[in-house]
Amino acid sequence: MSTLIKGATLPDGTTTDVLVQDGTIAELGKVTTKAEQTIDADGLRLLPGLVDLHTHLREPGREDAETVLTGSRAAAVGGFTAVLAMANTSPVTDTAEAAERVLDLGRAAGLVDVQPVGAVTKGLAGEELAELGLMARSRAKVRVFSDDGRCVHDPRVMRRALEYVKAFGGVVSQHSQDPSLAGPTACCHEGELSGQLGLPGWPGVAEEVIVARDVMLARHTGSRVHVAHVSTAGSVEVIRWAKAQAERDGHWDVTAEVTPHHLLLTTDLLTGYDPTFKVNPPLRPDDDVRALRAALADGTIDAVATDHAPHARHDKEHAFVDAAFGMLGLETALPVVTTVMVENGLLDWAGVARAMSVNPARIAGLDDAHGRPVAVGEPANLTLVDPAAQVVVDRAASVSLSRNNPWHDRKLTGRIVATLLRGTPTVLEGALA
Ligand SMILES: [Zn+2]
Repeated sequence: MSTLIKGATLPDGTTTDVLVQDGTIAELGKVTTKAEQTIDADGLRLLPGLVDLHTHLREPGREDAETVLTGSRAAAVGGFTAVLAMANTSPVTDTAEAAERVLDLGRAAGLVDVQPVGAVTKGLAGEELAELGLMARSRAKVRVFSDDGRCVHDPRVMRRALEYVKAFGGVVSQHSQDPSLAGPTACCHEGELSGQLGLPGWPGVAEEVIVARDVMLARHTGSRVHVAHVSTAGSVEVIRWAKAQAERDGHWDVTAEVTPHHLLLTTDLLTGYDPTFKVNPPLRPDDDVRALRAALADGTIDAVATDHAPHARHDKEHAFVDAAFGMLGLETALPVVTTVMVENGLLDWAGVARAMSVNPARIAGLDDAHGRPVAVGEPANLTLVDPAAQVVVDRAASVSLSRNNPWHDRKLTGRIVATLLRGTPTVLEGALA
């Protein structure tokens, strides 16, 4: 199988043909070799395949919301070649067998590399460590551990987890939410608006105190903390401070991600009580959004991660306080980043490649195959983007099983034209191949 990508523009701005053969990049420059299939990439950007550190695929347990297959389709359409599947399934991914099962489901789907995330604690209960070592040594080679959906709130448990994963170069991805500051019913940014709407508030400080604690634990243990879905300016300040300390003494290993929705959507969308906009952590005010954009631009935040959280209609269509948290994100991530960051001059395409492929691949330990430079001999995990296309999002057009799409009817710039997984097109002309 060979594919010739004709006249693509690389992240650094150079234009080249790319011949893909037997899963790898075989030739660059002016290619005259014949290929079985040619993609005209005039005016298109060729990026390393996108990598998502934070995807909820819902299988096993909630196959009415998403399966590994349907989530893989959404990922491929979104330009992703690898996704990290969060552990809060039913049963929870807290054993080697459960992790291998997710890995195998991903391989059977064959559209994107599905890398399971292991739970930090058994059943996400926050008390007893899960089988971290067995998951790491399994066929799934788990390196990222997270109780996402819940916070590892006991500092002693967090410390032990960090010490444990250090032995095999693992990382704990923390859902930072102090459970007593943001109580069980908290569902909206705590501020003037939550008061007016009569919704239980989720104050930014509930995130910030956990981020601050965890960066200190990262220093103490010499292990790696990844801050999932950063949502406040205060968290950004803590991470920026920790990274500045790391530059001086090297003992801090802290990385962070931001979601596309926290880069664009704000808390005032909740005035209509539409549960589509209910997400955890909640949408925040303008000041936080501006700080998140600046932090992604200057590298304080390493990666964009979708927190793709599909929900069946009967879990979302409730009164706001009772509806499930979460929104779709895989298919729209790149267009949102293009609209918010590229069009506003905050990131160039090399910056997009770093935030959506190179850095997440490195954080997840997938950088032998993903987030690689477009160079001869490298695995052909690639994404072709039309940077100027403008598309109005239609939730009915999604390949996800769910419809909780906060971008419905919104005009976004940037469209995925093609995705290649190890040289095989999974998406062509914007649709599943
Ligand atoms: Zn989370």
